[in-house]
Amino acid sequence: MDTIIGIDLGTTNSEVAVVRDGVPVVLRGKDGEAILPSVVGLDPEGRLLVGHPARNQLALAPDRTVRSIKRRMGQEATVTLGDRAFSPQEISAIILRTLKEWAEASLGHPVSKAVITVPAFFTEGQREATREAGQLAGLDVARIINEPTAAVLTYDPHPPEQERLLVYDLGGGTFDVSIAQVEAGVVEILSSHGDTHLGGDDFDQLLLDHVCERFLDEHGIDLRDSLATKARVLRAVEEAKKVLSTEAAARIEEEFIAEAEGVPLHLRTTIDRPEYEGMILPLLDRTLSSLDRALADAGLSAHQVSKVVLVGGATRTPLVHRLLRERLGRPVHAEIEPDLAVALGAAVQGALIAGVDVGPVLVDITPHTLGIESLDFHHGLPDLHRFAPIIERNTPLPASRTELFGTVVDGQKGATIRVFQGEHADTRHNTFVGEFTIEGLADVHAGNSIVVRLDLDLDGILKVTATERATGLARHVTIDNAMERFRARHRTDAVDRLDDLFDPSPGAAVVDITPESEDDEEVETDASLSDLADDSTLAPEVREAIRSAIPLIERAERLLPRANDDDASELLALLTDLRAALDRRAEADIRRIATEVEDLIFYME
Ligand code: AMP
Repeated sequence: MDTIIGIDLGTTNSEVAVVRDGVPVVLRGKDGEAILPSVVGLDPEGRLLVGHPARNQLALAPDRTVRSIKRRMGQEATVTLGDRAFSPQEISAIILRTLKEWAEASLGHPVSKAVITVPAFFTEGQREATREAGQLAGLDVARIINEPTAAVLTYDPHPPEQERLLVYDLGGGTFDVSIAQVEAGVVEILSSHGDTHLGGDDFDQLLLDHVCERFLDEHGIDLRDSLATKARVLRAVEEAKKVLSTEAAARIEEEFIAEAEGVPLHLRTTIDRPEYEGMILPLLDRTLSSLDRALADAGLSAHQVSKVVLVGGATRTPLVHRLLRERLGRPVHAEIEPDLAVALGAAVQGALIAGVDVGPVLVDITPHTLGIESLDFHHGLPDLHRFAPIIERNTPLPASRTELFGTVVDGQKGATIRVFQGEHADTRHNTFVGEFTIEGLADVHAGNSIVVRLDLDLDGILKVTATERATGLARHVTIDNAMERFRARHRTDAVDRLDDLFDPSPGAAVVDITPESEDDEEVETDASLSDLADDSTLAPEVREAIRSAIPLIERAERLLPRANDDDASELLALLTDLRAALDRRAEADIRRIATEVEDLIFYME
């Protein structure tokens, strides 16, 4: 039987996969890499470079290197590499041929047939050009299929009943969202919308500008002025961006990046996830508008979609998961590596054409979200049981993630880390997994950063580590069978529910968490504000609004000395407005501005 490989010929990266023994698998290059950058170049001696080596010379030798050729497919364009001219089909054929060679080396036999994917919005001309590229690469193109179709096939070629899926695809340079309907191996795209110039590369650009502006302010040198330096910083920020997908902060260090009057200068900076998320939020908001359009075009509302599938490397960004979950009211599926899902789906399509039985892609995932209990404020009132997710459900195993938390009172000596599993925003509805205390924290103001790291391995063993960011003081605990506990707890819950039916009794005990040094806490309260809150001539609602603003003002004032310039000036402006609203006893304004202060404090902490 003929082997039909599946190829995702992407704008930024390309991949190849095949169904082997009934299971879709990705095929790798000789260095074990699964992803081939879609970049082609010639070295100074005129030798062909494909993938990483071509990408590495991109910034330095743009006249001998070409990227994003997919954007020109179907055009009568000519691409020059050095003194040679190529058609877009020829450049794409070079990429396809490299993938064909990867496949032949891994499979140990020649390969001549392929399914190749294209964006749903590709015209007939662009599809034809892609087919031609395949032929030039020595491949008989068994079928050209849409990328969202492939993604759907990877996840669920044969759902028990008709299913509607939303495929959100954010790659390096393009974004699209499609609504697909699947039934018995047949996928129909109901609508598609997108932006052909939006992707992870834009995130890199924002980070690059941010880092370079900081350096410019500090040293008066613009790192973007030199092509080679800019390329170095770009590589470093892309790495930092990937780190920020799993860690709460990323460090960028490039030694000897510039020179001032003979003295070498180094680039050393840290970016926190909230800071980074603030930068990319406007771009992600644009993707949500496209999503609304795609749903409207398909005549569907969010709740009529049964699954949200993530495709494209840039969807590893946690903010993407959060925004989609908020907008669509359901968890997202990213359990299959999002940059490999399309190639795997193309392989599934190839197997279906060849008449081969296909099973599911095998991945171990976290069946439930893991996180810790944290203290949060709602309108000035503390919420002691706020669940802060750290590893989202459906994350492939092994998984490691970190999040940043802050102590809540001045001089807090310790913190109890209580780990829960489940999907509810209130920990009392989730399953308690374990706890431990980190003691001996530095005697500093509230807001002392504690990094909490969760590492979950394939056997369900969970390691939880808490580290005081300023001193490196760390404590950890290892919990065996974290996932089994969840099942056991659910069995117990089910038994309890049955018992309750026969013998109703008061609800379950409430789990409590008390900050270590709360008893000794001495918070300086603003006397005039406390007096105001007790002023019986004011309406009770106004007094309540004032009372809830007081702790916020105190927290904000504690945070100010350690805030960066931008946050500090924003916080000061809000505090000035809040004080003015308090002077006017304007209840609605007090509440509105207090919420803004609360949000900003949350963001800063
Ligand atoms: P794709 O076109 O699907 O291969 O996606 C490539 C884009 O995904 C590039 O902008 C990558 O920098 C980005 N990317 C890859 N891995 C990650 C990650 N872990 N977190 C955020 N972005 C990533």
